[in-house]
Parts: sequence; structure tokens; C-alpha cells
Amino acid sequence: MIEKLLAYQEMDANLKNLEAKLLGSEERKKVASAKKYLEGVEENLNKLNAQAGDIYSSYEALKSKQEKALEKEKDITKALANLQDGTEAEYLLKKANELMQELKNIDAELNKLSTAVGEMAKEYNQIKNSTAAAQAQFAEYKPKYEAIRKEIQPEKEKIEAQLAELEKGVDKTLMELYLKKRAEKIFPIVFEVKANGKDFMCAKCYNLLDLSAVSKLSKGELVECDHCHTLMFKK
Ligand SMILES: [Zn+2]
Repeated sequence: MIEKLLAYQEMDANLKNLEAKLLGSEERKKVASAKKYLEGVEENLNKLNAQAGDIYSSYEALKSKQEKALEKEKDITKALANLQDGTEAEYLLKKANELMQELKNIDAELNKLSTAVGEMAKEYNQIKNSTAAAQAQFAEYKPKYEAIRKEIQPEKEKIEAQLAELEKGVDKTLMELYLKKRAEKIFPIVFEVKANGKDFMCAKCYNLLDLSAVSKLSKGELVECDHCHTLMFKK
């Protein structure tokens, strides 16, 4: 029984290599990184748009504050022109000073906003350029990637046909377990247990097996390593 599974695994290694050739190719990496960037761009733009909204609200609020202060300034200038006595003059001058300070503060805040707008424009520009670069990269490498995929397709189909044939000889439950582990990217999946004197250990991660595991192995059963989760058998 185990021999059939081992034969399957041996053939499966060819498929794994073929998959690795495609997955590890420069072309696939270029396609994937471009795609990832393009998928994230919308989120970045949404964030930037929200920021622009905030800046605009702050600008509106400051502008209205500035208008009110300028109105008050006009009133004070008018009042100063129609002065009745000295105490009033002192009061008005104090008010005029306060207003000047307020207008200065508003100017400083407006300047800060203007800097923020400049930075946002820069960021927009960067996104625009990176997006164009990612689109160009995708357009260049997608056909190249597809060409490699097509190139290995006949070989892949040949191996898959052989695997389908080999699968017929393997116990169904065992096959399911094997394929589950294959999907978890464990490979190779089945190993012969490693003997070390009286002890037995996992040949992949050297995890020492307990007595119940060793007893199962001796009965011809498969045992899963509780550390690296590969399957072990004993001849
Ligand atoms: Zn292990």
C-alpha cells in the first residue's frame, strides 16, 4: 500500500517542480507585484480624498473666521475715527491689538494648510506615476507569464494523467490525507521513519517519536509527525 503512495509522491514531485518553475519565475513575480500595487491604489486614493476633504473644511472654517475678524477690524477703525474720550481709545487699541494677533494666527494656519495641499499634490503625482509604471509592468509581463504557463502545460497534463493512473492504486482515505497536506504546502509528504538505536525519529525534523507512535509504525500504520506534520512509515 505504501509503495503505491510513494510512487505517486515521486511522480508528484515532478509536478511540484513544474509548479515551482512557474511560481518562482521572474515573470510571475513581476505580474504579482504589479497586480498587488494596482489593487491597493484605490485604497490610497480614498485615503487621500478623505484628507483633501478635511483640508477643505478647515480652509472654509478659517476663511469665515478671517472674514469676521476683518469685519471687526473695520468697526474698530471706524470707532477710532469717531473717538470721544481717552479711556475708550485705550480699550479700542487693546481690541485692535487682539484682532491683529488673531489675524496673524489665521494667516499661519492658512499657510500650514497650503503646505499640506502642496504635499498632497506631490503624493497624488507619485501615485499617478507609480500606477502608470505598475500598469506598464503588468502589460509587459502578463503575456510572458502566460507564455511560460502555456509552455509547461503539455508536460503538466502528461504528469497529471500519470498521477490519475497512480492514484487508482492508493487507498482513498490515504490519498485524501496526502492531498490535504499537499494543499498545505508540505512536501515531500511521506517519509520513512529514521531509526537511531532503539529510538525512532522524524526523518525531516528529527522529532523523537513516543512509544505509541512506534507501536503504530510497527503495525504498518502511518504516523503523522506532531511537529512538522509529515507522514511516516516503517519498512
Ligand atoms: Zn517532523
